[in-house]
Amino acid sequence: MRVRFAPSPTGALHIGGARAALYNHLAARGATRRGDPSTFVLRIEDTDRERSTEENVAQILDALQWLGLDWDEGPISQVSHEQRHREVVEDFLARGLAYRTTATGDDVKAWKEQHGQEKGYRGEDEGEGAVRLRVPEGETVVHDLIRGDTTFAHVHMDDPVIARADGSPLYNLAVAVDDIDLGITHVVRGEDHISNTPKQLLVYEALGVPAPIYAHLPLLHGPDGKKLSKRHGAASVQELRDAGYLPEAVINYLALLGWGDSDDQTILSRDELEERFDLARVTKHPARFDETKLKWLNGKYLREMSVDDLTARLEAHTGRTGLRGAVEISQEKIGTLDDFWPLAGFLFDGPKTDDAKAREQWLGEDGQRILGRVREVLAGLDPFDTETVEAALRELPQTLEAKPKAVFQAVRVALAGTTISPGLFESVALLGRDETLRRIDLASQGVPA
Ligand code: GLU
Repeated sequence: MRVRFAPSPTGALHIGGARAALYNHLAARGATRRGDPSTFVLRIEDTDRERSTEENVAQILDALQWLGLDWDEGPISQVSHEQRHREVVEDFLARGLAYRTTATGDDVKAWKEQHGQEKGYRGEDEGEGAVRLRVPEGETVVHDLIRGDTTFAHVHMDDPVIARADGSPLYNLAVAVDDIDLGITHVVRGEDHISNTPKQLLVYEALGVPAPIYAHLPLLHGPDGKKLSKRHGAASVQELRDAGYLPEAVINYLALLGWGDSDDQTILSRDELEERFDLARVTKHPARFDETKLKWLNGKYLREMSVDDLTARLEAHTGRTGLRGAVEISQEKIGTLDDFWPLAGFLFDGPKTDDAKAREQWLGEDGQRILGRVREVLAGLDPFDTETVEAALRELPQTLEAKPKAVFQAVRVALAGTTISPGLFESVALLGRDETLRRIDLASQGVPA
């Protein structure tokens, strides 16, 4: 099997593109495992010279690398094959399979008014102008692993334009010629390309090459059933990375999205995905990309990681060091890497100062009475660890005739400045006696530390 991912570098790598890359990759790696050594080719379709920038190419490569989608050949620039594309166009012209015409869009319209709207446009050879491929009589059957067979009657197909008047080749020609030259056996791409497929197959036909097998992936929708867009949150791989998702969770989620084999809650390793993935099992109906579900799965990955590994990722993500202790006590409570700092940052940067409501509610008169006693108890505690802190604080509600919540929230707000934190006893132990007492003193003076 030889497959390719062929992004147009006109922007960031979108989630739908990432899914196409992944499905190609899984198909190739899976086939290799089953004894058919396979190749994943990366081709950059940079024929749109204005929108294809170096930065966009770099961004796409970076996103693929981050996802761990390594390619065996490429990146191959489509533009670098332009000479070959032009030769094919010349060959088609020489063999009478294509013709030059100056017909404009309006001319095509007028032609259809005369011959019928349903009729595919057929032009005259004028020896100048853009190049159109002649659609022969008959039909083209597209064999698709996901959608089954679709028949396109040629009578309804316009002669497709394959090169501009200046000879520069157009998309449908370039894609088909490149796929042929690269020996691509399976074309796995988004369903939005389905109308291009019969045109590309005409190029195969004209070159006398058998058609590849197709797998057109259903569109991605948001949770509301509308086409996935920025409106639904992160839309590109870069945004998912910035938001603190793990590449392995993104891969796992995208792999299962619209793939009939499993529900979308299973953790499957890359090995398992490669073993089980089957293009023929991809469902035909649009898949729903739901960031809430991705986040849930991501949290599951985070919790299953070793503390050392998670610490390394969080240190890279936050640009801070010395996070291990805080990571250890936060691991259960975060869904993305981004969730960590809002939860645990107070351990390093001091209590938050922007939650006046929490202070009002928990550090009032009764709060101060509680903190006074908490201070005494903690000052004399030895050793000062999670167990001893927990035992000491758990006794206090009774001694103080206060509700447990009042006691714990007072301590929490004194230390964190807010009511959200990792486990309280763990946080106190991690801060240590001196810092804990210092924060309690400041809170008692009504001063945010
Ligand atoms: N360059 C096309 C795109 O980015 C993909 C073409 C193909 O896969 O055949 O949508």
